[in-house]
Amino acid sequence: MALMTGKEYVESIRKMNMQVYMFGEKVENPVDHPILRPSLNSVRMTYDLAQMPEYENLMTATSPFTGGKVNRFTHIHMSTEDLKNKVKMQRLCGQKTAACFQRCVGMDAFNAVYSTTYECDQSHGTKYHENFVKFLKYAQENDLTVDGAMTDPKGDRSRAPHAQEDPDLFLRVVERREDGIVVRGAKAHQTGIINSHEVIVMPTIAMGEDDKDYAVSFAVPVDTEGIFMIIGRQSCDTRKLEEGSLDVGNPEFGGVEALTVFDDVFVPNDRIFLNGEYEYAGVMVERFAGYHRQSYGGCKVGVGDVLIGAAAVAADYNGCPKASHIKDKIIEMQHLNETLYCCGIACSTEGTKTASGNYIIDLLLANVCKQNITRFPYEIARLAEDIAGGLMVTAPAEKDFRDPKMGPVIEKYFKGRADVSTENRLKIMRLIENLTLGTAAVGYRTESMHGAGSPQAQRIMISRQGNLAMKKALAKAIAHVEE
Ligand code: SF4
Ligand code: FE
Repeated sequence: MALMTGKEYVESIRKMNMQVYMFGEKVENPVDHPILRPSLNSVRMTYDLAQMPEYENLMTATSPFTGGKVNRFTHIHMSTEDLKNKVKMQRLCGQKTAACFQRCVGMDAFNAVYSTTYECDQSHGTKYHENFVKFLKYAQENDLTVDGAMTDPKGDRSRAPHAQEDPDLFLRVVERREDGIVVRGAKAHQTGIINSHEVIVMPTIAMGEDDKDYAVSFAVPVDTEGIFMIIGRQSCDTRKLEEGSLDVGNPEFGGVEALTVFDDVFVPNDRIFLNGEYEYAGVMVERFAGYHRQSYGGCKVGVGDVLIGAAAVAADYNGCPKASHIKDKIIEMQHLNETLYCCGIACSTEGTKTASGNYIIDLLLANVCKQNITRFPYEIARLAEDIAGGLMVTAPAEKDFRDPKMGPVIEKYFKGRADVSTENRLKIMRLIENLTLGTAAVGYRTESMHGAGSPQAQRIMISRQGNLAMKKALAKAIAHVEE
């Protein structure tokens, strides 16, 4: 089975025995839970779109490993064309879900681990690349969703992993056995973990010799014994438990994050991709982060397209689409959004081949991409709120709208243009609220800030990659400075 349908995907997740906790209880059926289901629907979209002939080029690729057609989310990028198509696919998925569709972390982990294991094997004589390619083929042949887990809780940020008071604050190997390793620790903010079949764990920072036990990478099924997840709350999440869907804003799609705990989890030898070769921890981090910073130049742009559209519809419904300041604000939103897309495409076009044969983005440009993402979506959201007006946060509940006594009052006083229903106007207001302040604000706003690394992480990379010495030399040459 090279490609699953969306329906098959949902059923495959239903069969898993994951340990998921939320609101102080174990969730026995995460797949049908009203708070969690929208996040599953977003991943499902990555399967549904791959079935549509019009999106075949973007959503699928030919795997050099299986020789068959695979979902691009499981693909190893073999050219700059592949890198560009990845960004375009992510924009499309963002447009279709207006949420985080979660499957990119695995794709970014695949590509980072692929080249890093190759280089580690070259210098250490290890067999990690072989292990990884075997896992990759399995994921491609079964069209799996794979989570990429990088972020450790990190405890006291001034201390290295081995120097923490609590040694579990970075995930580590606690036992080395003949047949594998046992790991303990946690990964925080795990996007899409409950909607994934497998998880690839990677280290979170560059490490030294004392951190050997923390320099570990591997893949296991998400329902492996010892793994459990505690779902992160989102603003307005319990609205999804209420009757009706008007107040949710985006009734069908959403994202999800969870604290994922590895409580003495066994990893068999053939699933290990790094085990003590600490010099490669930093390489893996830098590459994964680079790919994921590229990713944001696609997914956030797609969600931005929906938000820009919503703001324009709100203006239409208010009867003021021709007001010059409204037109100008919408132009500004588009300018910002397309600038982000330019960054995603540019770092892809400038990609290069690694020693292992896959392609990596230009790291400087990918970091610039993400640095802009920490800012522009906030400005786009600000302009959308400006255009929408206060109603996006003061509109009465759907229950009032459906009430025989209150309903007609709301209908009358919250009407905009006479030919537009108040209900449609409220729907658009709630969508803007959802994207800027509600459940999807995790994905569009705060994740734009902190996902794939906080702004300072990109600034460090920019300072490393920016080649300031060359720029100084240029200035001196132009000014005829002689030293
Ligand atoms: Fe994909 Fe964007 Fe979600 Fe990351 S934040 S998993 S790139 S949709
Ligand atoms: Fe993310």
